[in-house]
Amino acid sequence: MKNLIITNGTIVTDELIPQGTVVVIGDKIIYVGDEQEGNRIKKAADPGVFEIIDAQGGYIAPGLIDVHIHGSNGVELMDGTEEAIRTMARYLAEHGTVGFLPSTVTASAEKTRHVAELVADYVGEEGEAEVLGIHLEGPYINEAFKGAQYGPAIRVADLKELEELYTILGDKLRLITLAPEVPGNEKAISWLREQGITVSIGHSDATYDQAVQAFAQGVTHATHTYNGMKGLHHREPGVVGAVLATPEVKAELIADLVHVHPGAIKVLLQNKGVEQIVLITDAVQATGLPDGEYVLGDQRIFVKEGAARLAEGNLAGSTLTLMRAVQNMVEVIGVPLVDAFRMASLNPAQSVGLENKGWIREGNQADFVLIDPDFTVQKTIIGGRVVYSNQ
Ligand SMILES: [Zn+2]
Repeated sequence: MKNLIITNGTIVTDELIPQGTVVVIGDKIIYVGDEQEGNRIKKAADPGVFEIIDAQGGYIAPGLIDVHIHGSNGVELMDGTEEAIRTMARYLAEHGTVGFLPSTVTASAEKTRHVAELVADYVGEEGEAEVLGIHLEGPYINEAFKGAQYGPAIRVADLKELEELYTILGDKLRLITLAPEVPGNEKAISWLREQGITVSIGHSDATYDQAVQAFAQGVTHATHTYNGMKGLHHREPGVVGAVLATPEVKAELIADLVHVHPGAIKVLLQNKGVEQIVLITDAVQATGLPDGEYVLGDQRIFVKEGAARLAEGNLAGSTLTLMRAVQNMVEVIGVPLVDAFRMASLNPAQSVGLENKGWIREGNQADFVLIDPDFTVQKTIIGGRVVYSNQ
């Protein structure tokens, strides 16, 4: 197993460490700090060979983790092929994302089971981002806020179906989006929590009280906050109000500046704080490709100037990369670089119970993205192996 030293860059961790060095043995980070100490540790620890990576004065940042992504580069999970997952995993590695939850959209039981089997059996190859599990977005959602989810397949939570999916997926079933106010869905929440699965409120028409009750039941996450949920009215603060008012709940955000106005992003940031925001892409198959006509699950979508919509005009996912979301948070919203990265690496990892991942710290898995100051990805490193290099 090869060991790595990454030098000559600013490390993005709890604070910025200029002229930093990271030492990796096998797939683990064993040292994060200044260059001098890094060299000393290298000499003391070195029984074998170290590969030296020069970050060329750029940033040594944590690899990004996307817990809500449907597709990219012409494919999506709902294509139902191993090749689709592989194409996504390669595309993501090239864009600085080291791990992801391929995400379903509302579909028939058969189709959902089929993609669950695919994700469960998936074996990653060289040059790919890690498949960390699956995000089931639907089908137990509310028709009133279905957004671009396929209406005819929406149904009430079915414990038998969930048990089947859990049997297939085990702990790869990491995240599920549901509408807790729909009668019959509440019983799924406690069952899911018992299995350690993160439950997210989304595509939901819950009142403030219903949402707060769901949080008390164990819902800890909110799916693309503001989008596909009952908005904030001062006499009925809805799902948005409940998410803003409940510190424990982590809030997904699509920071493409199309789904959510920068002002609303600032409101979210000021209410939730840096630690409770999870940047996601909600990316669809058009990501990385020109404007045109594509599909999302069982529906046609139309991409114009990078915005994906159904024929009726509903936004239908994004064409965002997570690195672009980080860049938008820094350059448009004015968030410090460390905070923007945290929202796209550590927070998503924690939100779905992934330990020892998502942050540059000693003992963690050695996942990095090396970028130029303009956010161009130079290298992506997963588990101590370079999986993508710009040169
Ligand atoms: Zn989605």
